[in-house]
Amino acid sequence: MNAGVYQLSEEHDAVREAVRALSEKEIAPYAADCDENERYPSEARDALIRSGFNAPHIGERYDGQGADAITTCIVIEEVARVCASSSLIPAVNKLGSMPIILSGSEELKKQVLPSLASGQTSISYALSEREAGSDTAAMKTRARQDGDTWVLNGTKCWITNAGESSWYTVMAVTNPDAAKPSQGISAFVVHADDPGFSVGPKERKHGIKGSPTREIYFENCVIPGDRIIGDPGTGLKTALRTLDHTRPTIGAQAVGIAQGSLDATITYVKERKQFGKAIADFQGVQFMLAEMAMKIEAARHMVYVAAAKAERGDADTGFVAAAAKCFASDVAMAVTTDAVQLFGGAGYTRDFPVERMMRDAKITQIYEGTNQIQRQVMARSLLKG
Ligand SMILES: Cc1cc2nc3c(=O)[nH]c(=O)nc-3n(C[C@H](O)[C@H](O)[C@H](O)COP(=O)(O)OP(=O)(O)OC[C@H]3O[C@@H](n4cnc5c(N)ncnc54)[C@H](O)[C@@H]3O)c2cc1C
Repeated sequence: MNAGVYQLSEEHDAVREAVRALSEKEIAPYAADCDENERYPSEARDALIRSGFNAPHIGERYDGQGADAITTCIVIEEVARVCASSSLIPAVNKLGSMPIILSGSEELKKQVLPSLASGQTSISYALSEREAGSDTAAMKTRARQDGDTWVLNGTKCWITNAGESSWYTVMAVTNPDAAKPSQGISAFVVHADDPGFSVGPKERKHGIKGSPTREIYFENCVIPGDRIIGDPGTGLKTALRTLDHTRPTIGAQAVGIAQGSLDATITYVKERKQFGKAIADFQGVQFMLAEMAMKIEAARHMVYVAAAKAERGDADTGFVAAAAKCFASDVAMAVTTDAVQLFGGAGYTRDFPVERMMRDAKITQIYEGTNQIQRQVMARSLLKG
């Protein structure tokens, strides 16, 4: 018998233990305040940087931790279990830097990745525009070459952690006459200090209120020529390949939120008494708990498998990454809604974390491609050939 078959390594378990302890001690106490006051979770940022979990996926070659894709998911999951906004620190650092890791030159990697690893900087990912959300290839932001520089003009919207990040990976049209719009898009790295770059006001959101979401503006924004990621015309391909690696991280965030709400619910139903006994004694409640835990367990396995496939570059990564993100986020929405239900009236107040978790869960069905788009990705993969 092989005791190691189909299970995480001891290192994975050790990372989970370490991140859970850190999250409960240094992140959870501030989660409600960050939500209530819509403020950036600076305590979480500092704690994550101190322990090397702010951007764990950066390779050792660039002074990073070199965490594998499953480890990175575990970090995000455990932080999201107590505070979804804080989990966007490691998640968006991976999202913003993956285009550079996948397609950037060695010089660009050396310029950006070590400062992300040390926590000196962080990075956002700018694909969406007001009129180009699901239809990414319809983007209007332009970049034109001018001697040794690129000049960017346009507006990106919905950019997670904009204003906090120093670096921005930006997709822009470089050839409007390309045979297909998707072939005329290139990817760039912009620094917050580049001339002509600015950020807009914070969006007023339903959830993940601790993570600022803003528009970012490029007005004749000049960047050095070597800040292009890969060859001109390859930007959308890189942006979409990135999502194969990061959709599992959104799945991990969803699993973490769902687990946090289940854990809070288990504590509550054992304490709350009605009809002379704990509500946990009612079979109707027990069946709901079992259903919640069963869904979370299934989602967690799918997320880790997707992460492993992305890391290995398996042929079915696109399908499984979309499926994991879609399934886990639908589970998070269902489980957090049931958590609020099991708290009764108390669940509908901000006195308990489950209403925040239910609001935070919703975004996981929307960003990095809505769940309709994930289903489209899956169906295309099923029907091709
Ligand atoms: C809080 C937040 C943070 C975000 N962070 C980032 C970020 O950091 N970087 C970034 O680039 N983007 C980010 N986004 C953008 C996000 O990825 C988009 O909102 C998302 O892709 C949907 O685009 P949209 O909002 O334009 O919706 P639309 O594309 O207008 O979609 C509206 C509805 O129509 C449906 N729909 C659209 N097309 C189809 C179709 N072909 N078939 C079936 N249904 C369809 C959608 O599923 C959705 O239900 C963020 C968004 C939010 C709200």
